Amino acid sequence: MGYIMSELTLPTYQDVEAAAQRIAGFAHKTPVMTSTTVNNEFGAEFFFKCENFQRMGAFKFRGALNALSQLSPEQKKAGVIAFSSGNHAQGIALAAQILNIPATILMPIDSPEVKVAATQGYGAKVIRFDRYTQDREQLCRELAEQNGLTIIPPYDHVDIIAGQGTAAKELFEEVGELDALFVCLGGGGLLSGCALAARALSPNCKVYGVEPEAGNDAQQSFRSGKIVHIATPKTIADGAQTQHIGHYTFELIKQNVDDILTVTDAQLVDRMKFYAERMKIIVEPTGCLSFAAALNMKEQLRGQRVGIIISGGNVDIKRFAELMLA
Ligand SMILES: *Cc1c(COP(=O)(O)O)cnc(C)c1O
Repeated sequence: MGYIMSELTLPTYQDVEAAAQRIAGFAHKTPVMTSTTVNNEFGAEFFFKCENFQRMGAFKFRGALNALSQLSPEQKKAGVIAFSSGNHAQGIALAAQILNIPATILMPIDSPEVKVAATQGYGAKVIRFDRYTQDREQLCRELAEQNGLTIIPPYDHVDIIAGQGTAAKELFEEVGELDALFVCLGGGGLLSGCALAARALSPNCKVYGVEPEAGNDAQQSFRSGKIVHIATPKTIADGAQTQHIGHYTFELIKQNVDDILTVTDAQLVDRMKFYAERMKIIVEPTGCLSFAAALNMKEQLRGQRVGIIISGGNVDIKRFAELMLA
């Protein structure tokens, strides 16, 4: 075991509150949508927290800004480094730009040019690497050491977790207590932060994390009591292609989450179509996890007040069109 449990100081709801103050005025307070169609179909009351309308198109900006704003003046001057092919890269790049911090992002050679361009557009320096021959974590550590950069991990970090939790905090403050909350899950930063908010603001709310069936490492970890590692899963939910959850996120999930559920890619496409056609919103495949799991629990949710965190809306428009016609 590479770490000692007692050394982990887990974030609390107070950290989520402090994060909310730090990001106020920078992050959008995203809208909560409702749908009469959904409410009638479920015989329940649904509230959709739309992080697809967050700056850079996903909740990742919340954690990034919260983490970067707490660096020391020396760390800010030297800059930060992150590895990501997706939303974490853009979240860090935008937060760094706002706080005037130099950012370096490691991205795979084969990551989509639109994502590279978006990250560079926020002023970050992008370094490409070959994900089949190079170990990105080692490369990241080397670059960080050589240049005095601070590494900002995508989910297993106290300030990242606290920042992501502000999404659920806003939801509960706007709509009041809920019976169930469904949260998309990759490495578990969003889920663990949102669970902290749920425990504080709606203690009886059931909290569910949802991951792709092809990559159910968090479900295996939750049920077996130890962090399970898997190969990179094949799924259209590219924001949830993580191989394992983190040490902090695992402890928080064990303490505050009721269950981890899975859904298939076909169910994600079905919900993506529903969002587009009925609610007029573009949601990326990973952002559809939460609603897809709720659909599997229709009977159980009857008569309840249900929260759905829509985690993001960053999907290439050609890809979106393909999936709509699938
Ligand atoms: C990163 C991401 C997730 C997963 O978040 P974790 O904190 O890693 O669990 C889910 N949806 C979207 C859109 C993301 O960008």
